This record gives sequence, C-alpha cells and structure tokens, in this order.
Amino acid sequence: MPDAGARADLERALAAQPRLSLAHLPTPLEPLDRLSAELGGPRILVKRDDCSGLGLGGNKTRKLEFLMAEARAQGADTVISTGGIQSNHVRQTAAAAAKLGLACELVLTRVVPWGGADYELSGNIQLDRLFAARLHLHDGDTDRGAAMEALAEALRREGRTPFVIPTGGSNTTGALGYAAAALELHRQLAELDLRANAIVHATSSGGTQAGLTAGFAALDPSVEIIGIDVDANPAAVLAEVRRLAQAVWDRLALDGQVPEEAFRLESGHAGAAYGVPTPEMRDAVRLSARLEGLLLDPVYGGKAMAGLMALVAAGRFSAADHVIFLHTGGMPALFPYREALES
Ligand SMILES: *Cc1c(COP(=O)(O)O)cnc(C)c1O
Repeated sequence: MPDAGARADLERALAAQPRLSLAHLPTPLEPLDRLSAELGGPRILVKRDDCSGLGLGGNKTRKLEFLMAEARAQGADTVISTGGIQSNHVRQTAAAAAKLGLACELVLTRVVPWGGADYELSGNIQLDRLFAARLHLHDGDTDRGAAMEALAEALRREGRTPFVIPTGGSNTTGALGYAAAALELHRQLAELDLRANAIVHATSSGGTQAGLTAGFAALDPSVEIIGIDVDANPAAVLAEVRRLAQAVWDRLALDGQVPEEAFRLESGHAGAAYGVPTPEMRDAVRLSARLEGLLLDPVYGGKAMAGLMALVAAGRFSAADHVIFLHTGGMPALFPYREALES
C-alpha cells in the first residue's frame, strides 16, 4: 500500500510552492472499456487532462499554474513563450495570460515540415490570435531561447517587464504541475481502490514525464511512468526528463535521488519527425474516436496511443493489469491535420 508519510511530505512540499488556480481539477479518470476489450490486454483508463478547462485545455495548464505564479511574483506585465505554429503550449499560455490580464508575445518557429492554409491559420494559431497574443513567426532553425531573449530585451527597453517561459513550459517550476498531478491521480486511484501498473503518455519537452516520475517515485515507485517519444529524438528527451525530474525532487527538498530505473521511454512511434503523421497514429486516433468517442490529436496523443497499443500487442501487460493513458490534450490540432486523418 502507498506510504501515507511520503504522501504527506509531497503534499506539504507542493503546498509551499507559489501557485495560481487556472485548471479545472481534478480532471476525470474514466475507464476505456470498449478500447480495452478491442485490444485484448490490460484494463485501460484515461486521465482526462485534455479537460483541464482553460482555452480548450491540455497538460500545459497544470504547469502554468506554477509558472504564472512565478511571473506574478516577479511583477511581470508580459509573458513570452515559444513553440511551433500549432503549439498547444503557447495556446494555453496565451489563454492564461488573457485571463490574468498579462500581455503575451509568442515566438513561433516553423519546425514541422507540414503546411497549407489549415496548418498556418486554423487550430491552435487561430486561438492564439483570439487570445490577443502577439505572434512573431520565425524559421524552423531559429534558436528559440535567443529569439525570446532578444524580444525580452526589446520589451524591457520599452519599459515593460517580461517573463520568459521555455518550450512546453518545461523548466523546474512548470514540471511541478505534474508532481501535483501525480498526487491528484494517486488520490483518485486510492478512492477507486485501484492499483495502476503503468501510466502512459506522450513526452516531448519532458516536463510532464519529469513531474509524474518524481511524484510517483515519492508516492509509489511500483507505478511505471512510460513516456512515448513523439520527437523522434529519444535520447535527448530522456536526458531532459532525467534532469528535470531530479530538479523537481531537489526543489521539493526530497531526500536523495530519483532512482535510475524510474525513467522509461519508448521510441519508434514518432515516425520521421515531430509533427509528421504516421499510419499508426491515424489508426489510433480513428479507433479511439470510433470505440470511445475520445478525441486524440495527431502530434501527441495519437502517437502515444499507437505506442500503448504496440506495448499491449507485445504482451507488456497482463489482463489483470490497470494502465492509465494520460490524455494530454491537443485536439485543436485535429483541424489543421484534417487531410492526414482521412483514409
Ligand atoms: C506539450 C504536449 C505534450 C508533451 O508534454 P511535455 O511536457 O512537453 O513532454 C503531450 N501532449 C500534448 C497534447 C502536448 O501539447
């Protein structure tokens, strides 16, 4: 059984971190019975972080509760962040800034070899504009950190006080959002009297997996946290997850180290590159929609579900196991990728 002392320690350490309320929490935890039956493996449940509420939701909202508290504490009047044209992170950042009355400036880089009017104008980027963010479009090979720093410097010269949030909101502060999510999920499982064997989700900038891994290392190390690489760059992603998880651990003043065996990354499901559709992604998106009325996106959730389906097919879990699929959001990208989802 989970260790009540570890839970109390983590709760206390997280409660001491500055945080704003932006998300609808707790997000639901729901069984996917028809999908589980179809795949013929473990019982699969979905943790609905796509339902986090703010500006169509997604995993970045949990990170932004901590990041925006830090921005406020520093007296910021503007937030700067970065991502691709169809970034879910910058869309949630723009929504949070709007809600908090902060200006938002976004450095968008053309990192994905995918285009067309839908990609350039609909989905997340359409919402960024509705949230009144100012967009700065750059080439794919732009150094995002340098571009944000140059923008911050220009804004400071105008007398503004910018706060810079990295790609995906994945720094130590942002990753705290997923240590807090670990606590939330751990409580939901206890209420249902369920033991989860594994939590599976899309991993990219690393903050989600880092926070979850640190959280469950403290709460119940028997729960496997399995990131599915969607960047086609697994070694770099895993290194970043390790670095951030230990940074979260240290920020929360927990003893020792996150054990090496806590880090699990599955590669081979990203396809050619980040944001490039794969046939397995398309099948996973369509199957989840058809059997469960559950919408997954082409960049993250679809590839993560394809990864989970491959693990089930490979016999990684037993029929008595419970696997949590963490739905990280991203549905606005269904529209720009319309063509990729047709057969
Ligand atoms: C950003 C994002 C992820 C990946 O989360 P990281 O913390 O960047 O690893 C997964 N799914 C969706 C929909 C996202 O927007």
